[in-house]
Amino acid sequence: MLIIGITGGIGSGKTTVCKVFELLGVPVFYADEVAKSLMFSDPTLKSEIIKTFGKESYNETGELNRSYISSIVFNDQLKLEKLNSLVHPAVFRAFDSWVINQNKPSYVIKEAALLFESDAYKKCDKSILVISPLETRIKRVIARDGSSKAEVQSRINRQFTDEQKMKFADYILNNDEKELLIPQIIQLNQQFLRIGS
Ligand code: ATP
Repeated sequence: MLIIGITGGIGSGKTTVCKVFELLGVPVFYADEVAKSLMFSDPTLKSEIIKTFGKESYNETGELNRSYISSIVFNDQLKLEKLNSLVHPAVFRAFDSWVINQNKPSYVIKEAALLFESDAYKKCDKSILVISPLETRIKRVIARDGSSKAEVQSRINRQFTDEQKMKFADYILNNDEKELLIPQIIQLNQQFLRIGS
């Protein structure tokens, strides 16, 4: 069984691509979603976060105090790295047990925004980078989240550029709304089914 990592900048369409893979029957692990839920549900991770960032990290109902954590890590690279060093191992553990529970597919997909930045790609057999023009990405995220252009741009600035990511990627999916996306996905699916079986 192959492990395929998928990534792409904010608004590139990586989740959209993963939904199509799911329609084709491919199991997809959404690492960023899992990370968010583990910060709520994993007692070890929770106590590590409290130990590192203080009791204010969680509110009375036990939910992560996102605005507090964001305010700490947003402008402090070392604190962000510290948070990631707590969360990433928990996500790897969750991924490993998720994989065991799959019914022997030819391949599975792990979607992660920071696949290359976090070195998670090293545990994947192949990686896919979804690319879209910067202006298209910004337009999509504004429409989806109601964020301002400056907010989107500042999140983009904190990730590798597409040029940097391309050096790591085995496959590129072009989601520029000109080239058809689904045929590109079907072609990769056929390839992975071949290699993975
Ligand atoms: P993020 O990193 O912010 O979670 P993402 O890379 O996962 O973003 P998506 O959520 O898949 O991106 O897509 C962003 C928005 O753009 C969504 O609202 C999605 O429906 C839309 N979108 C993605 N691809 C296309 C496309 N080819 N045509 C039209 N809309 C698209």
